[in-house]
Amino acid sequence: EFGERFNLPHLRGVFDMKPIPTTFSLKNRGPKLVDGASMPEERKNGYVNEDDRALLKVIKYSSPTSAGAECIDPNCSWVEQWVHRAGPRDKIYFQPDSVKAGIVTCGGLCPGLNDVIRQIVVTLEIYGVKNIVGIPYGYRGFFDNGLQEMPLSREVVQNINLAGGSLLGVSRGGGSTSDIVDSIQARRIDMIFILGGNGTHAGANAIHKECRKRKLKVSVVCVPKTIDNDILLMDKTFGFDTAVEEAQRAINSAYIEARSAYHGVGLVKLMGRSSGFIAMHASLSSGQIDICLIPEVPFSLEGPYGVLRHLEHLIQTKGSAVVCVAEGAGQDLLQKSGATDASGNVVLGDIGVHIQQQIKKHFKGVDVPVDVKYIDPTYMIRACRANASDAILCTVLGQNAVHGAFAGYSGITVGICNTHYVYLPIPEVITSPRFVDPNSRMWHRCLTSTGQPDFL
Ligand code: ATP
Ligand code: MG
Repeated sequence: EFGERFNLPHLRGVFDMKPIPTTFSLKNRGPKLVDGASMPEERKNGYVNEDDRALLKVIKYSSPTSAGAECIDPNCSWVEQWVHRAGPRDKIYFQPDSVKAGIVTCGGLCPGLNDVIRQIVVTLEIYGVKNIVGIPYGYRGFFDNGLQEMPLSREVVQNINLAGGSLLGVSRGGGSTSDIVDSIQARRIDMIFILGGNGTHAGANAIHKECRKRKLKVSVVCVPKTIDNDILLMDKTFGFDTAVEEAQRAINSAYIEARSAYHGVGLVKLMGRSSGFIAMHASLSSGQIDICLIPEVPFSLEGPYGVLRHLEHLIQTKGSAVVCVAEGAGQDLLQKSGATDASGNVVLGDIGVHIQQQIKKHFKGVDVPVDVKYIDPTYMIRACRANASDAILCTVLGQNAVHGAFAGYSGITVGICNTHYVYLPIPEVITSPRFVDPNSRMWHRCLTSTGQPDFL
């Protein structure tokens, strides 16, 4: 039954890579690696063929009213999309011993950065690359002449995964694409591995295009780094799992504080600028949250259906309550400062502090004593080392990034989509952040678990 389905001729939405320039032609690439010790272990099990595709998404909606079906062509209940499978190719584009490879980490911290750096270095060395450098402090390292590139080897990166943060440092904001490409050219870098979020990917795509314009044979390969798990098409990005796990500790502390206080309210603010995945998953996994607030779902604090009224009810019936709020939630309730960070991202108002103040004010007004404990574990979570599941994800992504560069691809990013490891063209994943769908079954499961009503 399966084979038949997959062979049906209604494959559509084939997600082909943008054609790569002739200098990156897949034919006529560098020499095939000789059989023997220098072959990556993985290659002994065969190569990934150039035409291999992984199914990005396959789902059959029985009716146009099924959840999610509204987004597809009403004449076809199937959604199938195919993407390039990641992995080692039998022919490689670069001669390993003459390659100079660079690695750079941009944006904010995220558990697993060191795991990815480590795995890129280890895999490059297995290919036979001798010249590997780290660019310090994000894109800044390309144009700040005071910063030196850092030579990398297996020896240097051996234990870096045991600590959080980034060996290379990170930064926001900075120079023009043209300056960065000048720097890549001056350093004679052939492959640049760029780890970062949406902003970083936009930058990487511009760098890729500028390299093509200048006809440089440079491979630009990204690894998506977003703790918020907000990259389109991807099942999961590294660091998210660790963040959800660490968030449990904060939630559990808030729960204990709330339970132990007379009329205790625990309030935890979690990451999630535009997407509430961390808050939703942490609420689902902890089972201790009474109210989960995310950016995708508007709510009011005041009024008969507001959050504060529900809190009153919880205090009366349970004696305590625990609230989890994503940093980007309820921004419409706050005054806009108009401020932006060095990368041009809007600085969000502190919804956690606002809710804390409003709870105190409200309960004072109705003359019910409450004891509010507010916890913001953001920086403690971001600085953690990756947990086991993220460490594995980082390892596979790092290896595939190197395979992609050696295959001669540029302007790509690696990810896990529908359980398969794939290469995607950068623009496909950064058209918008990925959001929690308020009509999704997962959000409804979260609501069932917290027992919260709609707050509008
Ligand atoms: P995070 O998830 O931590 O926010 P991010 O990659 O989105 O990660 P940003 O600080 O937004 O982090 O951007 C990282 C780098 O990318 C910065 O150096 C910034 O200057 C650059 N950048 C951001 N947006 C763009 C863009 N549209 N074009 C070129 N470069 C960009
Ligand atoms: Mg960003």
